[in-house]
Amino acid sequence: MPRVDVVVYNIGELVTFAGGPLGRVSLDRVYVLRDAGVAIRDGVFVAVGRSGDVRFRFDGFMVDAGGFMASPGLVDPHTHLVFAGSREDEFELKLSGVSYSEILARGGGIYRTVRATRASSLEELLSRALRVLSLMLDHGTTVVEVKSGYALDLEGEVRMLEVARRLGEVSPALVIPTLLAHVPPLEYKGRVSDYARWFAETLVPEVSRRGLAVYVDVFCDRGAFDAAESRLILEAGLKHGLRARMHADQLSYIGCSRLAGELELDSLDHLERMPGENARVLAERGVTATLLPTSIMAMMDPARPPVARLREAGATIAIGSDYNPNNMTPLQQTAMDIAPYILQLTPLEALAAATINAAKSLNIHDRVGAVKEGYRADLVVWDMENYKWIGYTWGYNKTLVVVAGGRIVKKKDLR
Ligand SMILES: [Zn+2]
Repeated sequence: MPRVDVVVYNIGELVTFAGGPLGRVSLDRVYVLRDAGVAIRDGVFVAVGRSGDVRFRFDGFMVDAGGFMASPGLVDPHTHLVFAGSREDEFELKLSGVSYSEILARGGGIYRTVRATRASSLEELLSRALRVLSLMLDHGTTVVEVKSGYALDLEGEVRMLEVARRLGEVSPALVIPTLLAHVPPLEYKGRVSDYARWFAETLVPEVSRRGLAVYVDVFCDRGAFDAAESRLILEAGLKHGLRARMHADQLSYIGCSRLAGELELDSLDHLERMPGENARVLAERGVTATLLPTSIMAMMDPARPPVARLREAGATIAIGSDYNPNNMTPLQQTAMDIAPYILQLTPLEALAAATINAAKSLNIHDRVGAVKEGYRADLVVWDMENYKWIGYTWGYNKTLVVVAGGRIVKKKDLR
């Protein structure tokens, strides 16, 4: 009998997404298997099929999924996992009616986290991030994008990206590092375009030379960078071999999402204030719309991305946790479960958005985000009978088994 590392059998319903990323999510293109099993060797799926066939064809560590539902591991395509400190008193301020922009303008918000992060060592940042990452894994997140952006200077940004690299080395999660131009530092007050130029001409080439990031990202919005400054930074990243993504149209609309028509972008994130007519550009250019439902809650702002227009245009919709000190919930599982309430996604759309479409947002959908032979073996068995329970139940951890890169990181006793 062929030897493998792990066999998971007796899966009542396996949502595979073997057909790839989905613009319009319809059941006939999702590839749902009943009574399924998978075999895993060397970190990838080597067989996906009927439970009985897989179970008796291979020899390896056997995991009985108890007839529950399973899906690809969750891919979180937008996190600010590395930072120091917390901002719980700003939560109270926001509840009293002070806006996020106002807090930022007073030197709080991101700037406060910058002060704390600059003062922290690599070891301090790493141990905190590892603690959060293990919580993410326990809740089914097996792939995580990690941004820099809380140091703003060369030394500190490099340190944050080195933390991201170490996270990927010591954890079974796959980590995708991103160099983020978050806000201009206070020392550049009134000289934002000077900072954008320094970022594009000095920081981007240095990070690229050291191989520390896959992506370059910019917070394009009022109070951060305008469309021209964002373009300068993103173009520098593309020129130096990085891929590009962008925070766009979150707090205001200053034309940021229009850059999707002009630059090679993999993803536009947030989009709470994107005009509906821009949805077509994303669909035509293959740019994923990465929406952040828990972040919308944390902003305490009624603005919503134009989901119906994105769906109608056939744009790929992903979701992410946007874990950051303004939105301290690091769980893609929670983002997925509340997406039906906040974004009116169907349960199946929410699951696609948190797996295969999130992988597309990170341009790794040819090997991650689906349960398919040759794909990275990320799998979650859920305490749900079928995918329609996504959002239907929420607020507690529903993972029973979590496999990340072929390693079993969680296994509840199902008997
Ligand atoms: Zn963000």
